[in-house]
Amino acid sequence: MTQPPTTGCQSTCPYCGVGCGVVMPDGGEATLGDQSHPANFGRLCVKGSSLHETLGTQGRLMHPEIAGEQVSWPSAIDAVAARIAESAREYGPESVAFYLSGQLLTEDYYLANKLAKGFIGTPHVDTNSRLCMSSAAAAHKRAFGADIVPGCYEDLELADLLVITGSNAAWNHPILYQRMKAAGRKGRRVVVIDPRRTATTELADLFLPLKPGTDAVLFNGLLMAISQSKALDLAYLEAHCSGYDGALAAAQESAPTVADVARICELPEADVARFYDWFIETPRSLTFFSQGINQSASGTDKGNAIINCHLATGRVGKPGASPFSITGQPNAMGGREVGGLANTLAAHMEYDKPGDRERVIQFWEAPSLPSGPGLKAVDLFEAVHNGKIKVLWVMATNPAVSLPDNARVREALDRCETVIVSDCVRDTDTTAYADILLPARGWGEKDGTVTNSERRISRQRAFQKSSTEAMPDWWILNEVGRALGYKQAFAFTSAADVFREHAALSAYENDGRRPFNLAGLRHISDESYDQLKPVQWPVLADPVLGTARLFGDGRYATPDRRARFIAIRPQAPAQQPGPEYPLVVNTGRIRDQWHTMTRTGRAPRLWNHLPEPFIEINPRDAMRAGVTDGQLAQLEGPSGRFTGRARVTDAVRQGDVFVPIHWNRQFSGEALASDLIAPVTDPFSGQPESKHGCARLKALHSAWEGRLLLAEDKPPHREMAYWAKAVFPACASYWLAGEKPLNWPDYFAGLLGEKPQLVMHDPARGGYRAATFAGGRLKAVLIIEPSSQTLPDPAWLASCFAMETLDGATRRKLLAGRDAELPDTGAIVCSCFQVGEITIRQAVEAGAKDTESLGLALKCGTNCGSCIPELKQLISAVQVQPVEADG
Ligand code: SF4
Repeated sequence: MTQPPTTGCQSTCPYCGVGCGVVMPDGGEATLGDQSHPANFGRLCVKGSSLHETLGTQGRLMHPEIAGEQVSWPSAIDAVAARIAESAREYGPESVAFYLSGQLLTEDYYLANKLAKGFIGTPHVDTNSRLCMSSAAAAHKRAFGADIVPGCYEDLELADLLVITGSNAAWNHPILYQRMKAAGRKGRRVVVIDPRRTATTELADLFLPLKPGTDAVLFNGLLMAISQSKALDLAYLEAHCSGYDGALAAAQESAPTVADVARICELPEADVARFYDWFIETPRSLTFFSQGINQSASGTDKGNAIINCHLATGRVGKPGASPFSITGQPNAMGGREVGGLANTLAAHMEYDKPGDRERVIQFWEAPSLPSGPGLKAVDLFEAVHNGKIKVLWVMATNPAVSLPDNARVREALDRCETVIVSDCVRDTDTTAYADILLPARGWGEKDGTVTNSERRISRQRAFQKSSTEAMPDWWILNEVGRALGYKQAFAFTSAADVFREHAALSAYENDGRRPFNLAGLRHISDESYDQLKPVQWPVLADPVLGTARLFGDGRYATPDRRARFIAIRPQAPAQQPGPEYPLVVNTGRIRDQWHTMTRTGRAPRLWNHLPEPFIEINPRDAMRAGVTDGQLAQLEGPSGRFTGRARVTDAVRQGDVFVPIHWNRQFSGEALASDLIAPVTDPFSGQPESKHGCARLKALHSAWEGRLLLAEDKPPHREMAYWAKAVFPACASYWLAGEKPLNWPDYFAGLLGEKPQLVMHDPARGGYRAATFAGGRLKAVLIIEPSSQTLPDPAWLASCFAMETLDGATRRKLLAGRDAELPDTGAIVCSCFQVGEITIRQAVEAGAKDTESLGLALKCGTNCGSCIPELKQLISAVQVQPVEADG
């Protein structure tokens, strides 16, 4: 839905790598899409349009703290500087490490990198972007000589063949997905490659549910097919590439025939052949790839297997024709630009490129720049664990949830001599380990830039004052730099000041071989920085003109300006299922949550879609394990366990299960996907194999299940096999389950410090229902039943917590858990307009034939469009229901 023109502050959504422009109207009552922003042209998904719900101070880190005590900023800065200086003096600069985040702004990232590498002298600066797109970055560097996405979003609309691989764009990059969908025209084809049938499959003319881990075989097979076709661009190979013969020989070894590919990938041979034919006959082919490719122990090779096919056909950096890596985070790209990854230097310079290191030293007048790369995320935390790193500064990320083999990461944080955490949230799984806590400004309070997946730099602008003592990350780093004695190098007074230096470094001694170049912005005034319109780098000229595509002329960023084919010998995933752990664990995101929920977890609207941690299981595997749909189930892997609600579905292949990545320990007892993932990494990128674990499945036979709703949130867990929390506007809502019965009156009194005012106890059945009030307001409700089937949906109960006073009639309904007079609308499908499944089914039964007529009747699907694939599924499900014969 296009938003009406409005006035307000223009900024950028801080969630995914699409980088949509938003407008925050005065008053902050809504979040609107920015019609003038070229990424989204006014559209926002439900996460973006719920941003205003995340802006309050609840849960914020309010002040600097040392060992849990509030301190002043000068004391906190001095303490951070003292610990860093002491550690560097005693154990060497390499005893200090920084773990950054794609949530940081480019200016923050730039100063963290400058301080760590240039002045403290430690190479150990890595980022959570390592978990997201570092394999794509490594593949780009190997092929193109620089980490560059050659295309732009417009190419997704111009392509005549769209290959979407390892990406559930409909949920994870919804606005790009909407653009791809809207661009559909006669003759345009879409191939979706994914082991799991996702919402994105709705767009597919051809769906290839390949065996997990076999992507490189599929694309090697495509290279073989191209080599035998007219699509092979010999003139392009001759003029612009090297290494083709080696790549082809490796493809020949691993994927000699279509039949071999089909067998290895476990796909129908005709479908593989159709994919290859379509690619060969379509000059405007675009391959869109994401975490399904990157999060693998051979993710870099998979990226290069894709790029090889585009090089062989000369389809790079041309309208509608490119390999296109989409990043997960809002500023993963900005972090790459400033050297946020341990193996790179600032401004896309490299340790191993002649002259680059010296250039950075000269520009910064840096006293000490490491001579080689630092440790990548997984190894970095291992060095924390074994005591080599003594001081760890974590900024804007939650490694205690997101890194693989999470128990070991938590142990590392526990052992570390000094953990410094900068964050805007007080209580995350990671802040629990902090010795020093530094309150950082949140989205809406900070100023700077981010770069999206098409190299477009956009401004994030502050539109509200912080009501905490929080400061911008760049300011905190600047002050620490000064406290360490580097007053001249850290004399920044604004984000614009930092940006100018960043732009100047990109242009410094840049003879055109470093495509990352912001020369046109190096003298930008404060005013122009404030007004900066979204622009794609390189930005060479002033006035500012960006660059939509790169490498279209066949001149790459390698020393000889030729692209490199890489010989790919496909590797199987590091962990293979076996008798003990027979299932392959796939992981991913859900539609309405983001990362580890520290931000989206605060927006009640985003809890409506999938409020509980879940496990998707193929019907055959479910039957074998004795698990039924809707029952609680557990996955046990070599390093941990995941408990969630079973969703039995043929969307996952037999032998595979899928779990979401979002739940942390603030929201669940044991539903961390990272507990099922081993710390194996790609040898080139260091990216963990987060999409491939192994586990066994079993049913959780609970003696009871319950709902607990609390006006004032507090942890409810006591000897419980399962708990998970969701957030409503006026209360927290818990799902509970246990294997042993509890004494419920005691439990209630222990948790609330009082006896309930309403009680219904049925010990023989195992049922217990109780509620209590504070004045006229509802304070808590507890409902325990022998099984989840008889538990009420919490929505109506949650709405009672928002009432100033509950009248007698409402109080009487409380223990029933629902108001029988209100229609049951079912689980929410459209989060934007809060439309439930039962309402949608009824509308279809009443004659709504398609998503357009549902939109007209109920408005569902007419805003962000993320629910449209589910609406389509519901329409088909209702329409195919058998009709009973008369008589
Ligand atoms: Fe934000 Fe959604 Fe746009 Fe991503 S697609 S940037 S989450 S509004």
